[in-house]
Amino acid sequence: MYKDTNCGDPRESTVNSQITVAGWVNRRRDHGNLIFIDLRDRSGLLQVVFNPEISEKAHDLAQTLRSEWVVQVTGKVVARLQGAENPDLPTGAVELSVTDLVILNQSITPPFEISDDIEVDPTTRLKYRFMDLRRPRMQEILKLRHKVTHMMWNHLTEEGFTQVETPILIKSTPEGARDYVVPSRVHPGDFYALPQSPQQLKQLLMVSGVERYFQIARCFRDEDLRADRQPEHTQLDLEMSFVHQDDVMAVVEDLYTRIVKETVPDATVSSPFVRLTYAESMDRFGTDKPDMRFGMEMTTITETAATSDARVFQAVASSGGSIRGFVAPGCGNYGRRQTDNLTEFAKSSGAQGLVFIALDESAPSIDQLEEAHIKSPLKKFLSLDVIKQIATEMGATPGDLLLIVAGTDKLVNTVLSNLRNEMAKRLEMVDPKELAFAWVYDFPLFDWDEDLQKYEPAHHVFSAPKAEHMEYLDSDPSKVIGTLWDLVCNGSEMGSGSIRIHDKDLQTKLFNIIGYTEEQIDDRFGQLLTAFTYGAPPHGGMGLGLDRLCAILVGEEAIREVIAFPKTQSAVDPLFEAPSKIEDQQLEDLHIRVVLPKN
Ligand code: ASP
Repeated sequence: MYKDTNCGDPRESTVNSQITVAGWVNRRRDHGNLIFIDLRDRSGLLQVVFNPEISEKAHDLAQTLRSEWVVQVTGKVVARLQGAENPDLPTGAVELSVTDLVILNQSITPPFEISDDIEVDPTTRLKYRFMDLRRPRMQEILKLRHKVTHMMWNHLTEEGFTQVETPILIKSTPEGARDYVVPSRVHPGDFYALPQSPQQLKQLLMVSGVERYFQIARCFRDEDLRADRQPEHTQLDLEMSFVHQDDVMAVVEDLYTRIVKETVPDATVSSPFVRLTYAESMDRFGTDKPDMRFGMEMTTITETAATSDARVFQAVASSGGSIRGFVAPGCGNYGRRQTDNLTEFAKSSGAQGLVFIALDESAPSIDQLEEAHIKSPLKKFLSLDVIKQIATEMGATPGDLLLIVAGTDKLVNTVLSNLRNEMAKRLEMVDPKELAFAWVYDFPLFDWDEDLQKYEPAHHVFSAPKAEHMEYLDSDPSKVIGTLWDLVCNGSEMGSGSIRIHDKDLQTKLFNIIGYTEEQIDDRFGQLLTAFTYGAPPHGGMGLGLDRLCAILVGEEAIREVIAFPKTQSAVDPLFEAPSKIEDQQLEDLHIRVVLPKN
């Protein structure tokens, strides 16, 4: 080894020991007679001092050192002079007095300083990701991610799971996104697809008798990259036989509680995780990914609002839409600029407008509200009685701001749930140390696709309908609730799962409902249907996003922060400059001709 001690280890208790350390020059300070460097390795920083009276040779050589050079130094650990200690550094009470310096390698000027406190353009960070990862914060994230997967392995092994790798080159197994495909050289004109998830494979493993499977699996989805997606992401994929919904949830809940406790000990986790049905979640929060760290729940006021003279309300109510809202506590004193700003926000989420009713805090109670206590653009059309009734239904008190949106159910929910999250941010209602996990279950099995005028699986086509809803499969598929669920945390989806169909006829029926032809069924799912005829056990499982979990644990918004080598928003890898052209010979070997779009 080039070193016998890590930079982050020396302490007062090791003063006087002779050590050799190796690492990168984080910073050099030349004080004429003395030269200081902060030496960095993965364990931290150590102050190193070159004193010509101790070694003139090392001191002379130290004058040539620059940032990010790689060096090996030998010397004696000494206590720092009184007043020169650095309480921010674990090694801040000591320094290394150098007797020998070896320069192991040089570095050209780094593209940015290796420090957590600097702003660097995101593409530059990715182009020099190998440097970006040298930052202490990124090292910490890599270690946390390792710790999380290590715990997944350990915990699930203890629970009797077997890890099985499934192939990356498979056949297209549509799960809602576009496939990445790989041309076959030996089978001209044929293609493999990269798995969107190991869904069919893990179900086949249940037919094989594995009973408890898991894998830290890479999943590939060729989607237009919305906000925080990556073309490839990592899932904790698991599947269990002879289980019901609660059994799968229990395994995941134990695992996730343990992961949070051991990786972020000062976090608070909701235990047990909150459970709510899809219908309840939509009703209370307007979304199936509710952030449970704060209140501001929604109320439907369609009937009351429709009794007013406000045309918008009447029109929406008579066309079957809804009028809903929530209370922003203590915001009744918002000025014009603030309410305009909220209206703009609502419009950017698709609303036609935002109705607000501001209640002055000087009102003694809702019952005793007077005209003078109320500010609202619709004031002319809302009688005092209607306002009192709306305020009561919404649970408001004087001093509050009522935020109301009218329109189709879908639009109202989208706008209000975005607005609710936004208000929580503005009002600083979120405790950054809280991890509020919730199970959302009883999702409808199908979504109606307006554009295609057909049913699509709400999650994927392998989820089983609830036994008591079988009859609706023929009469009205939109009514069928599935045994499928999501895990959410702090407003993000952490994963989804279901109890699967394990019967050939039922599975075929679902394929039919979503409009697959016999040929498509046979081509894409023939293997699974065949397997189902050989004694498939009842089974179910989940796929859980590892990137999102790590991001939440380290308090990052973007999953690219917790992926060692992520792609940009436009699916580009700036480091390798992928995707890229390939050699003509490669194209020829693959029997492929490229026809580029005209522009
Ligand atoms: N394969 C599913 C997905 O990737 C998860 C599951 O149902 O297990 O969303």
